[in-house]
Amino acid sequence: AVEVRNVFWENSENGGRRRQADKVDLAEQSLLNKLIRRSLVRNRNQVEVLQRDPTSPLYSVKTFEELRLKPELLKGVYNMGFNRPSRIQENALPLMLAQPPQNLIAQSQSGTGKTAAFSLAILSHVNPANKWTQCLCIAPTYELALQIGQVIEQMGKFCPDVKLAYGIRGNRLNRGVKLQEQIVIGTPGTVLDWCTKYKFIDPKKITMFVLDEADVMIATQGHRDQSIRIQRQLTKDCQMLLFSATFEESVWRFAEQVVPEPNIIRLKREEETLDTIKQFYVECREKEDKFTALCNLYGSLTIAQAVIFCHTRKMAAWLTAHLTTEGHQVAMLSGEMTVEQRAAVIERFRNGKEKVLVTTNVCSRGIDVEQVSLVVNFDLPVDLDGNADNDTYLHRIGRTGRFGRRGFAVNMVDSTHSMDIIKQIEMHFTKCFGMHHPIKKQLDP
Ligand code: ADP
Repeated sequence: AVEVRNVFWENSENGGRRRQADKVDLAEQSLLNKLIRRSLVRNRNQVEVLQRDPTSPLYSVKTFEELRLKPELLKGVYNMGFNRPSRIQENALPLMLAQPPQNLIAQSQSGTGKTAAFSLAILSHVNPANKWTQCLCIAPTYELALQIGQVIEQMGKFCPDVKLAYGIRGNRLNRGVKLQEQIVIGTPGTVLDWCTKYKFIDPKKITMFVLDEADVMIATQGHRDQSIRIQRQLTKDCQMLLFSATFEESVWRFAEQVVPEPNIIRLKREEETLDTIKQFYVECREKEDKFTALCNLYGSLTIAQAVIFCHTRKMAAWLTAHLTTEGHQVAMLSGEMTVEQRAAVIERFRNGKEKVLVTTNVCSRGIDVEQVSLVVNFDLPVDLDGNADNDTYLHRIGRTGRFGRRGFAVNMVDSTHSMDIIKQIEMHFTKCFGMHHPIKKQLDP
């Protein structure tokens, strides 16, 4: 009993730190997504639009031409390889470009075209003849601000008179300067300082305010308050736009503080399905045993590419070393790597340079590789209390069997506790999703 309590105490200690770390990870995860994404994520759901004025007609566009953009901007859009608006863009673009200006709160998962949408709105909005800052855009981190800036620069490639400045730490200007760039993108702290303390920007001349990644923003208390303070400097005619990948209650409350009289656009995440995935578990004694089972599995299946999840960095390193000794080409992802390093590893894996990817949980969300035919839970996903983490399970397993392909998921069970977890997961998904393939025991792995 003493031992159990000890473990529990250790866990909750770590839990405190983990929760802190998770917040930082949100911004990193988002950056990783951006670094490795090459195209729109698939989403066939209907967009929900809640108009401020329900009597005004609801515009949606199927082409970029319908938006009557400046020719140089349209050229920039096509030059990026965009043929037609994404689902969220169909509704968001006409709304953001409408006259008189309208406020917008928009939510859809990452990869659905939000950044491209507001970049287009910004470029369309600013008047290049006016040499002062007209549009402010804030993001949670330096790196995310740079990513947005790159999209705007690329899209605005044929608009030579539109200029952009980065309001990020380390970017020092001389006192008394007034910025001439029409667009400023930055983090809340620096942008607030530029507006109030240094007066590089006159907030009364801002006519468009964009807040990106609201959910990540409010994970940091300071950012939340700074964002609200920036917003309060602006005039009531300034157009306010807010974007978020998720929409919990806390994001709503924040969004409504920042965006008065909003129109609301939402695109629900397309549900991941386990229908095309065969799920198994293998009973083992300890990690060496799990390793043997894994090697046997390899012998008996034709596997394109596999992702293997471990609970700790140490376990991932151990497994990577052993698989490499067995002659497998293995890549490893772990939380200690920088986001750029992680993006590079995922890129190599995606290009087939390695067939096996060993990873800890922190990295699971970004991995979206079509060829993955096997996912192995070398350690089962558990939450801080040691219970089954069903969401993580779905995310991990969802890495395989994508787009109707057949996939396998194998769970390594090494104790009565992990057997319990398997049962919890089974119960959960049978109940919630009507899973066709309850987790089966692989008799002859
Ligand atoms: P989000 O901000 O919602 O994460 P992005 O705007 O970054 O989404 O878009 C995700 C990916 O899709 C990017 O690689 C982007 O270049 C691309 N993309 C965006 N809009 C379109 C479009 N209309 N057609 C094709 N690709 C697009």
